[in-house]
Amino acid sequence: MVVGEIAEPVDLLVIGAGPGGYVAALRAAELGRDVVVVERGGEEGGLGGACLHVGCIPSKALIEVAQTRRRAEEMAVAGLRVDGASVDLAVFQEWKRSIVDGLAGGVERLLARHEVRTMRGTARFASRDRVAVTMPDGSGRFLEFAQAIIATGSRPAALRELPFDGHRVLSSTEALALDAIPASVAMVGAGYIGLELGIAFAKLGAQVTVIEALDRVLPSIDESLTGPVVRRLDELGIELRLGSRVARLEEEGLIIEGPDGERTVAAERVIVAVGRVPNTEDMGLEAAGLGVDEQGLIAVDQRRLATPRIAAIGDVTAGPALAHKASAEAKVAAEALCGRPAVFEPMAIPVMAFTDPEIATAGLTEAQAREAGLDLAVGSSSFAANGRAATLGERHGFIRAVVDRSTERIVGVQAVGPHASELIAEGTLAVEMVASPEDVLGTIHAHPTLSEGLPASLAQMSSQLGVPDMVTEYAPSARG
Ligand code: FAD
Repeated sequence: MVVGEIAEPVDLLVIGAGPGGYVAALRAAELGRDVVVVERGGEEGGLGGACLHVGCIPSKALIEVAQTRRRAEEMAVAGLRVDGASVDLAVFQEWKRSIVDGLAGGVERLLARHEVRTMRGTARFASRDRVAVTMPDGSGRFLEFAQAIIATGSRPAALRELPFDGHRVLSSTEALALDAIPASVAMVGAGYIGLELGIAFAKLGAQVTVIEALDRVLPSIDESLTGPVVRRLDELGIELRLGSRVARLEEEGLIIEGPDGERTVAAERVIVAVGRVPNTEDMGLEAAGLGVDEQGLIAVDQRRLATPRIAAIGDVTAGPALAHKASAEAKVAAEALCGRPAVFEPMAIPVMAFTDPEIATAGLTEAQAREAGLDLAVGSSSFAANGRAATLGERHGFIRAVVDRSTERIVGVQAVGPHASELIAEGTLAVEMVASPEDVLGTIHAHPTLSEGLPASLAQMSSQLGVPDMVTEYAPSARG
């Protein structure tokens, strides 16, 4: 409840302290602005946002411990004996909390060092230059801003037929807070969040079924990259039910309807991971002269400005809902509001899924490049022929490079395999720096590393590029 009409003047107001908001606040403060960040905290956020508290960091922590347990079993082939390796999720939760608290403390110190003021409360626009902030104790105040950045992020989407109940039907947030491994998990949704969590729970020992309405997994990722993940789901004993919808939840399980009729899926817990909803309603956006599209996203220009005085960044705007995209937009928005020339036009936003194997892409896929009318050369190198992958015992997947033949520039890189999310950094750099195949091939890559895969994929292209004397790689095939 907001009382009183006297408003405190604020130079630059940032709403939300996720990887969008806190980075925007830091950049604006560096540029000399007096910045106030309003962050509501609670279960889905806090300093560091959803990414730190319920997203990127907690999920990668869970994936790591699950993967380590699984590897202990799979490396039996190399003589490793770890009998009865198990994970105590209650202990994991303490470990995770210490990581999250440590990183949140880091964000707090960074903001303080830049003299950014943080205010705990929920902000709502009252007019074009005012927000009402409801404080945790229910009291309220007005802030009158010269400029503002909306970085309120997103939250899990619910299914009308299967509402979250915090006990049996869980969101990704609640699933990441479990302190015991369920005997069975019905994972609704085969996007990256659903598959990351489904694979992790299977590696922890749960019986996992993934239910997806579409006829494929990972709909936002090029289908040619998903084959190794689908095969691995099978190896991990994960049942995949494509083209299937949730009918109802019963005591004995989740009833789904699919191509072969109705069936019951074991479901001590149901995890619903069917997407994220931008936090743009209940924000009083109309009072600020702002609208949203049918997905609830705020339209912005290349500078991330929604109006000359209000910017919007991160999950409340179009594009991949990823932390690094939010942070990159944050710097552009802060600079634009500070009157500097800044536009958001990256050539490559890396997109990853921390599945098994991992998938990561930067720039154009082969299909996108063909659609754009480019004359292409495409090369790919299998991890089956990579020495380091062999020593890791992880030989699934490949790296693929897409080159525009007319300019001889690398326009896209895709990786499926161990540590693809790390490997994509070089691909992203190559696309962003408009590198040629020779640039990468002429760069010495350490051996034995997975990173040798990118030059190996480019080396395959010499005949396609009509450069017979192009420097090549001489990788022995591990298959003999
Ligand atoms: P958020 O991080 O959502 O932050 C918004 C903040 O605003 C929150 O702290 C919220 O409390 C606050 N807020 C909201 N409304 C108000 C209000 N009215 N007043 C005041 N404060 C408010 N991305 C990756 O890049 N890599 C990954 O590996 C990855 N894994 C993920 C795994 C999971 C399980 C999930 C759920 C997400 C994952 N993401 C990942 C996505 C990533 O978390 C988001 O893209 C990112 O957090 C978006 O940043 P943001 O700053 O736009 O918003």
